[in-house]
Amino acid sequence: MTLTAVPHVLPPLPYPYDALEPTIDELTMRIHHDRHHAGYVEGLNAALDGSEWADRGLEDLLADLALMPEDKRVAVRTNGGGHANHSVFWEIMAPNAGSDPTGPLRDAIDATFESVRGLKREVSAAGNGRVGSGWAWLVYDGAGLAVTSTANEDSPLMSGQLPLLGVDVWEHAFYLRHQNRRSDYLEAWWWAVDWGRVAQRYATARAEGQDGKRFELGQEGRP
Ligand code: MN
Repeated sequence: MTLTAVPHVLPPLPYPYDALEPTIDELTMRIHHDRHHAGYVEGLNAALDGSEWADRGLEDLLADLALMPEDKRVAVRTNGGGHANHSVFWEIMAPNAGSDPTGPLRDAIDATFESVRGLKREVSAAGNGRVGSGWAWLVYDGAGLAVTSTANEDSPLMSGQLPLLGVDVWEHAFYLRHQNRRSDYLEAWWWAVDWGRVAQRYATARAEGQDGKRFELGQEGRP
């Protein structure tokens, strides 16, 4: 969860643009990363430029949105949320992924959702049920795992939840290959999920939760 750089920077895609074929096609990855995500980073830096908020890390900004003046809040919510969300999205995908989770993450998934299949069903339902653009998430909220959905580029970090896995359900994420069939995309998408990365995020989230501060902070800043 290294979103501390200021000014904010576009993280390089951690694999080639065509690496997730056929689940996500190369042109979609190029446009999505190089234009959409880059645009959010640019918009975020432009909104913060010269302000007292310019040296704050992204997680802090999103947790403290309520404290921000309104003229900045809208831009940071959209562009900062977009930057945070897409950073998770690229990180938790990989070529030749798609095997099932193992270890403590698997135990928590089984305890909370009965099975990996149960989790996938809930995430897909959250993604299919989102009206308009947004995201479906597996989050850690300080106590345990939960599936949520956010509108537009809202981030789980705005509500003090740490995103472990997120799937972008904006049409730009799937339209070229799957056209209007969001449910086909959501079903195919699991083949691109790198559960090893999700497990690492879960371990980090639990460690941060144990120091007692992180989840209080997020909840105080709830917009
Ligand atoms: Mn997107």
